[in-house]
Amino acid sequence: MLALDGQQQAMILEQAAQHAIAFLEAAGERPAAAAQRPLPMAALPESGLGAQASLERFYATIEPYLSGSSGPRYLGFVTGGSTPAAIAADWLTSAYDQNAALIGGSAACAVELQALALLRSLFDLPTSFEGALVTGATMANFTGLAVARQWWGERRGINIAEAGLAGLPALPVLSATPHVSALKALSMLGLGRRAIEPVPTLPGREAMDMAALERQLQAHQGAPVVVLASACTVNTADFDDLEAAAALCRQHGAWLHVDAAFGLFAACSPEYSHWVKGIGQADSIAADGHKWLNVPYDCGFVFTRHLALHERTFQTSASYLDPGANTVPELLHRTPENSRRFRALPVWVALLAYGREGYCEIVESNCGAAAALGEWISTSSEFELLAPVRLNIVCFALTEGTAEGTKAFLKQLETDGRVYLTPTTYAGRPGIRAAFSNWRTTLEDLAVIQAAMRDCLS
Ligand SMILES: *Cc1c(COP(=O)(O)O)cnc(C)c1O
Repeated sequence: MLALDGQQQAMILEQAAQHAIAFLEAAGERPAAAAQRPLPMAALPESGLGAQASLERFYATIEPYLSGSSGPRYLGFVTGGSTPAAIAADWLTSAYDQNAALIGGSAACAVELQALALLRSLFDLPTSFEGALVTGATMANFTGLAVARQWWGERRGINIAEAGLAGLPALPVLSATPHVSALKALSMLGLGRRAIEPVPTLPGREAMDMAALERQLQAHQGAPVVVLASACTVNTADFDDLEAAAALCRQHGAWLHVDAAFGLFAACSPEYSHWVKGIGQADSIAADGHKWLNVPYDCGFVFTRHLALHERTFQTSASYLDPGANTVPELLHRTPENSRRFRALPVWVALLAYGREGYCEIVESNCGAAAALGEWISTSSEFELLAPVRLNIVCFALTEGTAEGTKAFLKQLETDGRVYLTPTTYAGRPGIRAAFSNWRTTLEDLAVIQAAMRDCLS
């Protein structure tokens, strides 16, 4: 089969491309989320079926149960879509199959460095920030916090990358509303989820109370600690005051890590960039590509202002990895992974394809849709906002909605298929989130979304 597939490669790829195109063109009409049922179990065949027969089986038996998450009315989580430029480049990434770990006779690492420079420019970050692409913001948080942990160890005279954590006290991580992925990162780093030292939020907000942060930093009396700031939260898109946090961290010798998974994109629009003012003074920043950059999954990025420390943390030396005369940095010294997908290509192509204006447009149109939905909700008698709409997320509830009622409403919406929303709990109330992060979403979609929400109330 392999030999036959080798001969039929062009046809196999062309047919898959046609199929993908048809899927994308219909993405607006497919149900936003597909009802789930047990899939037919596949058994490993003794002799293979070949690419075409296997793909046909997939299209017939499994594809109907994929979600419309690439479409315009999937508003669950913060999912994003993929632009034409990013999809085309991602296809090519698979075809090229480069390993962006080492120079190894390929330009892949050099393209990644360019992609990082383009991102830095998009977000107006100082050139002192160096970074790497990772699989998503979870790994970006892991990487940034690993560098913070290395800094903390060195402040205490221990090179953690070499000696581990034995004998060290707990590392306090001061945070108000950390994302679960940052907690997972702390657990993986051997610091533990309980490393979080909670900082109170401002009244009625998810943002950190800076006066409380100052008091807590003072209480540590100059001992090295990490401040984990949010830009922004997933429930209500609330931002910590990064400028104030950076000033306090400087004053008290603390490390500032900012989880800016999608909030970093506020920097793309003059209307919203005030939310991330001061982020350029952070020590490390984690963000996502597969959300608001609208590139396919498997893309996040991490920036730090401490390259030597960063590379000490992830140093991967071996005689067979000797860079020899190479002058381009080896990116495996900056990330947990060694072999690495050439995920820089979709980033590089998408940034060239749409430029600063393109990303400003996506951010402003998504935030405009969120604002319009928020406006509609605040004037309706069936729904009420749980928080003001600051960016691209609408956090709301059914008026006097119980947990069961909210669940039933969401189930009804899911079955209806016109829009996909996900549940939350906010301020002790069962809530619903609508997160706008897809370049395709228009105000026409908003009208469809509102109609679906009305129809599913009964
Ligand atoms: C999505 C998200 C993450 C985790 O990102 P993944 O891409 O799922 O790894 C971390 N922090 C925030 C604020 C997020 O929204």
